[in-house]
Formats: sequence, C-alpha cells, structure tokens
Amino acid sequence: MAQSTTEFESVPAVAPEEAAHAGTVVMKFGGTSVGGPDRLKAVARRIVSAREAGNRVVAVISAMGDTTDELVALAHTISPTPKPRAMDVLISSGERMACALMEMAIHDLGREVISLTGSQAGIVTDTVHTKAKIVEVRAARIHEALDQGRIVLVAGFQGVSTGQEITTLGRGGSDTTAVALAAAIGAEACEIYTDVEGVFTADPRIVPEARKLHAVSYEEMLELAASGAKVLQLRSVEFARNHAVMLHVRSTFSDEHGTWVREEDERMLEKAMISGVTHTLDETVYRVEGATAAELFSAVAEANVNVDTILQAGPEIVFSAPVEDRSATTQTLDRLGVTWSARDDLGKVSLIGAGMKTHPGVAARVFAALAKEGIEPEVVSTSPIKIACHVAREEVERAVQALHRAFELDAPEAERTHA
Ligand code: ADP
Ligand code: ASP
Ligand code: MG
Repeated sequence: MAQSTTEFESVPAVAPEEAAHAGTVVMKFGGTSVGGPDRLKAVARRIVSAREAGNRVVAVISAMGDTTDELVALAHTISPTPKPRAMDVLISSGERMACALMEMAIHDLGREVISLTGSQAGIVTDTVHTKAKIVEVRAARIHEALDQGRIVLVAGFQGVSTGQEITTLGRGGSDTTAVALAAAIGAEACEIYTDVEGVFTADPRIVPEARKLHAVSYEEMLELAASGAKVLQLRSVEFARNHAVMLHVRSTFSDEHGTWVREEDERMLEKAMISGVTHTLDETVYRVEGATAAELFSAVAEANVNVDTILQAGPEIVFSAPVEDRSATTQTLDRLGVTWSARDDLGKVSLIGAGMKTHPGVAARVFAALAKEGIEPEVVSTSPIKIACHVAREEVERAVQALHRAFELDAPEAERTHA
C-alpha cells in the first residue's frame, strides 16, 4: 500500500465584474430534469417562479435525457476516433437544442427570456477539445439582459476557446458552467437541480438505504466527485471552493431541501466521521516498467490524460486513468517504449470522510468488511480523507454495499442534520 494524492487543479480568477446583486440565482438543470417536453415545461415553470419571487435568474440547461450519449455514439458510427474539433461542434448541440426549447417554453409563459450559447454567454476556455477548462467568463451580455429584467438561459457544457473554436467541458460539464457563472456574476448560491434529492452517502441506485447528506465540505465533495459520485462534476467543485460559491444540490421533482456544499464546519466533523462510499467503473489500471515517474507522467500529462491513482513500489509504476482516455494513454506508453499492461476488468470503491484524519483503524475496518464478503482488493491507495480499493468489476456493487453497512451509513446520524 502506498500513499497517493489526488491533485486538484487551480482555477482561474473570475472576479465578479460588478458588486454582488442581491437575489441573483444560478439554477442548473440536468439531462433527466429536462428529459422530455413535459419535464422541460415543468422546469420552465420553476424558472419563471424563481423570477416571479423577485430574483435575477440565470438558468443553465443540459442536453435532454441521453442526447449527449446518443451524439457520442453517432460520432462513433462515422469514425472510431472522432476528430476532436468536430466532436465538440456535434456534442455541444444537445445543450443548444434544450436551451432553445426552454426559451420557447418560457416565452409562452409570458416572461421576457433570452437563451445564449456558451460562446454568447462569454464562457472562454482553453483550446483542449472535449475537456476544455474555463479560463475567463465575460458576463457583460448576461448582466445586460438581467438588467433588462430578462430571464437568461445559458447552454451548459460548452464555451469558445481562446482560438475561437467551440469547445466542451468534459462529461457532466454543465455543473461547471453553472458554478463559473455563479462566481462571475456574484450569485448568492448556485442551485444544482438533478434527478436525486441531493448528495447521498452512496449512489442511491446501488444502495437504496443511502442517506441524503445535509451538508458536505468542499474538501469532502472534491474527494467524492473525484472518486465517482457523478452528481457533481469534479471541476465544478474546484471552482466552487476557489470562489467560495455555495452549492445546493437538490431535486428538480420536489421542493425538498437538498445538500449544501460549503466551507467545513465543526458540526460536519462531529456528526459523522465518514461522509460516503463512492464507486466508478470508468477507469483503466496500468502497470508500467521502464520509465521514471517523471518521464511517464509528464508524457501522460502532455496527452491531456487525467491520471487518478498513482502507486510506486520498486521499479513498477501503477496508475489509473479514465476509460475515455484509453487510446491517448496507450499511444503515449507505446511512444515511450516502456513495458506496460492495462486492466479493464477493475472498478474502484472509495470510502470518504474528513473525520478519518482523526480516527485510527478505518483502513482495518475497510479490509475486514471486504474480506467478510470474500473481496480481495487488487490496488489500494489512500489520502488523508479517502481509502480507495480497486476490486473486480463484478464485485463493485457488493463492495459498496458492504462498506456502507460496515460504517453504518444507513443510520440517521449519517445525515448530519443541523440548522
Ligand atoms: P444530471 O443529469 O442532473 O447532471 P447526473 O446523472 O450527472 O445528473 O448525476 C446524478 C446521478 O448521480 C444520480 O442519478 C445518481 O445515480 C448518481 N450518483 C452517484 N453517486 C451519488 C451520490 N453519492 N449521491 C447522489 N447521487 C449520486
Ligand atoms: N450533457 C453533458 C453530459 O451529458 C453535460 C452535462 O449534462 O452536464 O455530459
Ligand atoms: Mg451531471
């Protein structure tokens, strides 16, 4: 076992251009929330209600339902390795479509509204197609429309690069659009409306008795997002932390309070030592010999691969990276001339909790719980607030459930309810 760290990227400065406006809200709606005409119209009513309550409203809209997956699949029917520039033009269209339909729906409700593409909204990114980073937000046009009393809709997931090309922000990127806009326009909070009621102690689709967390610190949410809780894109949490944007993750389909993501608060630590169990099936694990860590990871970084776990003991280096970066990674390894192997049959289960720092014996409990299920981790890595185990893919669900039980995350205390 070795210590690994997850490196979070620094985020560019997007100082609010004007003093914060009281009552400015950014509301982001995910794909399922606008998954069909009726749902989209229900969201339109929700946006209009927020405007009628006196707020200046910016709503970020995702592509409807599985549109992005379908566009990605369509691209692969044409090319096994779709040209990145064209891919971005294609997949950004899902958000434009949903945004245009939302503009029609809100207009029919009798409200002044304007929809903007990422580029029109002033989301400026670097030039890395399909996973661009926001470098600047030029929000003048949004302010102007808000000052005219309009509801502003922004197509999520996309921007315009410093080279004037259409870019996208990586899967789940509409979350980052929303947080970046909230930071840039000085919104009080950024509301992330989704198909679950908040951030849970585990994916509620796998652990039905998972509890909704009342509040999570940025630090914990970074680890949760980085290790597979896809309810928020990792970059959106980095942005929120660096610009002190409070996030409220909540359901589109109810008025219940969801989960607040914000600065750590002593009560969060007191209430529960563990915040949740996450998992991912979207990683490949590589074993490499024949290069120094410096050579290997600078080459991998140049290929824009986001490395997660890194372990080194002796001459062998083990690391994991997203499945979607597989061809970029293997091409890099071939170019370096190293000896390598890759495993696609592993998934990763992680236990996250800021309270772990001060409670010994957590790792022992993790291994005991997995052993009881007959599950043998292949790779183990830790950070001060995370223990991650790569296990056979078909054992991932059982491992998540076992850890959830072993740390009593189904108990009411796991919610950390406090005012
Ligand atoms: P959206 O389309 O609204 O952006 P996503 O599909 O990106 O929604 O994210 C929401 C999904 O994240 C949920 O449907 C849930 O299955 C999954 N998820 C995974 N882990 C968690 C967790 N710990 N808490 C809540 N949801 C989670
Ligand atoms: N539609 C994009 C995706 O599916 C972005 C998002 O939904 O946040 O990844
Ligand atoms: Mg999402």
